[in-house]
Parts: sequence; structure tokens; C-alpha cells
Amino acid sequence: MPQINRRATRAVIHLDHIDHNLNCIKKLTGGRSKICVAVKADAYGHGAVEVAKRALQWGVDFLAIATVNEAVILREAGINAPILLFSLPLDAEIPDLVQYGLTPFVGDKSYAEKLNTEAASQKRSIKVHIKVDTGMGRIGVTPHKATELAGFIGTREYLIQEGVCTHFPVSDSPEEDDIRFTKNQISLFQKTVDAIRAIGLDPGIVHAANSGAIIAYSEAHFDMVRAGICLYGYYPDPRMKKPAAFKPVMELVSRVAFLKRVQKGTSVSYGRTWSAPRDSWIATIPVGYGDGYNRLLSGRGRVMINGQSYPIVGRICMDQFMVDLGPVTDVVLFDPVILFGPDDGAMTATDIAGICNSIPYELTCNINKRVPRDYKERTKSL
Ligand SMILES: *Cc1c(COP(=O)(O)O)cnc(C)c1O
Repeated sequence: MPQINRRATRAVIHLDHIDHNLNCIKKLTGGRSKICVAVKADAYGHGAVEVAKRALQWGVDFLAIATVNEAVILREAGINAPILLFSLPLDAEIPDLVQYGLTPFVGDKSYAEKLNTEAASQKRSIKVHIKVDTGMGRIGVTPHKATELAGFIGTREYLIQEGVCTHFPVSDSPEEDDIRFTKNQISLFQKTVDAIRAIGLDPGIVHAANSGAIIAYSEAHFDMVRAGICLYGYYPDPRMKKPAAFKPVMELVSRVAFLKRVQKGTSVSYGRTWSAPRDSWIATIPVGYGDGYNRLLSGRGRVMINGQSYPIVGRICMDQFMVDLGPVTDVVLFDPVILFGPDDGAMTATDIAGICNSIPYELTCNINKRVPRDYKERTKSL
């Protein structure tokens, strides 16, 4: 057993907010679409096994990850639900892909053939979803070749064609140009699915919507939606209209590790970029970029202590940073500190993303393994 980690800095994962956000997603889809949840990148930093179990207990239909190894971790935790593989493996990963019963996105015949060969050698059929590139420009078959690929898969003995899908690059954007682009993608995708039906093949589960499209394009919900960032409580773009009150799932907390009063003119942290403009109380917080807390927050971020917001002063170090509490303070040693989270008044990952020129996805993903996860309302075993 690993030792218990009692450090002050922790990521509290509010599992009840996963349920709440899934309820929001169900409401947005009218309950008419299956739900797949993206638990890639350790569930955007929240912990893939815990999030997957919670979402399955709620009733989602599919999980999705990006690497074969991520799926192996889920399987070894006893999770038997269908798992979509969003990204492409090396040839050396295909035996595990088949053995662990993953469902890959397929966009070309040569990959389909390799999958079939491995599945044949293991005598174990696998399900595949045809990935159509209607404008993401990442992976997938071009729309006019999709029927040919569907036909090919239909002739492979160990491949079961279970779904057809596409992906949107700008479904979260309120710009007119981007709306036009997404609508064109939806219609192109619809035509592609129709063409597969027209040659007498069953496309199976039709799916396209990421969080942006779950929120903004009900015509793209089809048979299943693939929820990522909204499951974790954030809009993919803060400029979107907000038809649902998603709740942030991750709360990054710490405690005041040191307190001191400095005189006007005293400099704080590396590079001496900040000096106290007056006599002031300075608190040291034991969190740094070594935890994945972005160094761009130096002199720009804020934290909440006892319901009050305080500015980060000076540079963020690898393991610590400082905040200015002002000339008088009630704050005492080991008072709790909220770096971001669902609390009223606390910064959210979206606020921090705005400061760091990033997106909430990256913010929660970056909180790394040095930060222990505390699961609130732990999921009962499945
Ligand atoms: C990550 C991912 C999603 C989820 O995207 P969000 O914007 O987080 O909702 C859906 N589909 C694919 C193919 C993805 O890679």
C-alpha cells in the first residue's frame, strides 16, 4: 500500500457534480441520445477510474479514452463498459487493443485490415466505428470514401461495424463563420451516413457532438453524444450561451504554510518582480508549477482564503508562491486556501485559463500526480 499523502495541497473531486453535469447533458439532449463520456488524460486530470465508475453508475453508455494504455487501466480496475479509442495506436499496441476489447475509430482500410488480422489471430471479433473527417482535419476518412470503407469493413470477418462518427473543431464558437462551418459539417456528415445506408449497410450508432455541439447544436446530437469538458463543469468557450448550470468538479485547495509581516519595499520571490508597496502581511502557499499550477499566474492570479480573495504577488516557484494579505489580516497559519473550484467567489479554471491564455481543459489536465485527489462522495463499488 502506498503511504498516505497528507500534504496540504489537494485536488478535491466533487463526484456529485459529475451526476449533476450528466443530468444537465441529459436535459440538453432530451434524453434521446446515448451518452459517451471522455475520460482520456486521466479524465481531464480528475482520475479516470473514479470518474468512469461514477458516470457508469449514473448510467452512461460508453467511455472514451485516447491511448490503449488508458483503456487497460480502466479494464484492470474491473470496468467492462464499451470503451471508444479516439486516437490511433502503433501496430505494437493492436494486440492489447483487441485483447482488452476496445472499440477503435477507423478511418482507413489498412488500419481496418490490421485490426481484422489481429482479431482473427485472437479469434475475438471487435467492434469499430468509422471516423469521418468532415472538417476537423485530424484523423478519419474523407466523406466521399466513407461508403467504400464501410463496404470493406463489412467484408472483414472479425470486424463489426458498430458506429459512424465525426468531430467538430469550432462547435463552441459563437462566430458566424464558425457556425456556418459547423452546420456544413453536420449536413455533410448526415449525407455520408445516408450514403452508407443507401448501399444497404447499417451505420449503427451515429455520433458527432462534443461539449460545444451538445450545448449549441441539437441537430448534431444524433444517436449518441460525446461529453468531455461539460462533464467536468466547464463551457468549452466562455463566450457560449449558457443553457445549463454545469458545476466544476475539481477544486484545488491548499493551506497557508507560512505567514510574515514585511516592511514597505521588501521584495518577494524569484526575480524580485514585486516589492511591497506598504507594510503588509504575506502568506506562503505550498503550491507551484511543479504541481501544474501555471507560472503565468505570477503576479496575476488570485486565491480565496476564508471567503476573501487575495492577489498572488511575485513569481510562482516550483513548489510555493506568495499572496499579499494587506496591512491587517485575520488569516492564521494553516487556514484553507482555494486556488480554483466551484465555490462562489473562488476562481474557476475558466478564469485562470483567461489569465494564462489557455482553456479549462488544459488547466485541470495539468494538475499532476504530486497533487493527491480526494474523492468527495466516493462511488460505491459497481
Ligand atoms: C475529447 C473529445 C471529445 C470531448 O470533447 P469536449 O470538447 O471535451 O466535450 C469528443 N470527441 C472526441 C473525438 C474527442 O477527442
